[in-house]
Amino acid sequence: MLDVIEKLLILQERDRKILRLRAELTRIPIEQANASGRSAKAIAAHDAAKLVVKQIETAKKNLELEADALKQKIDKYATQQLQTKKNDEYKLYGDEIEKAKKLINGLEDQQLDLMEKIEAAQKDAAAANKIAAAAKAEVDAELAQLASRDNGFKKELSDLETTRAALTEGVDETTMSKYTRLLKTKGESIVVGVEHHTCGGCHMKLPPQLVHSVKAAKEVVACINCSRILYYTRDMDLVSSD
Ligand SMILES: [Zn+2]
Repeated sequence: MLDVIEKLLILQERDRKILRLRAELTRIPIEQANASGRSAKAIAAHDAAKLVVKQIETAKKNLELEADALKQKIDKYATQQLQTKKNDEYKLYGDEIEKAKKLINGLEDQQLDLMEKIEAAQKDAAAANKIAAAAKAEVDAELAQLASRDNGFKKELSDLETTRAALTEGVDETTMSKYTRLLKTKGESIVVGVEHHTCGGCHMKLPPQLVHSVKAAKEVVACINCSRILYYTRDMDLVSSD
């Protein structure tokens, strides 16, 4: 095998690691957003449950105010009833007082009903609170883990990138620029083997003369279809039976 091919294979292995780390790093913010969204949902559910409690409490308060207003009316009618000397007015005030008392009874029944509803809503809110707290704890742990993974990957990536230049030493400029171009367009598969007389990158059948050149290993040979750099090893002979 050509010395330069050996160097390129090592470089390619390095670039594969770099590309995979970069891909991992782009996924981390998405995972962070997903995790945060999960706890946000549980927190919103808890907020909604708390709001229900508040709404019922307000409704109950309104009933109390209504009852208070009626009680004041009763007091007023009672005073007027004492002051009047007319029988029909006396009776009229008496009727109004009875009517108001009935309304107050009805309001009190409604209040009791709402008190039960408040109790149930408070239970729901407490349960939602538990779920939200658990979700937040879980998400916080996940976010911490993601942050640490992010740090680790960034450090690893920086190490791999810093020492990469050393791996390009001894590779001639023409081959290097070819490799760099392929790295941009083909990603992690640039230096590929010849198997069954086909290119290991695009899997097109290669002309016998080209396969011969690759086997001879005198110069860097590229696939005529995809331009990837080709190499040949003895191990490939064992599988290139056709
Ligand atoms: Zn090819």
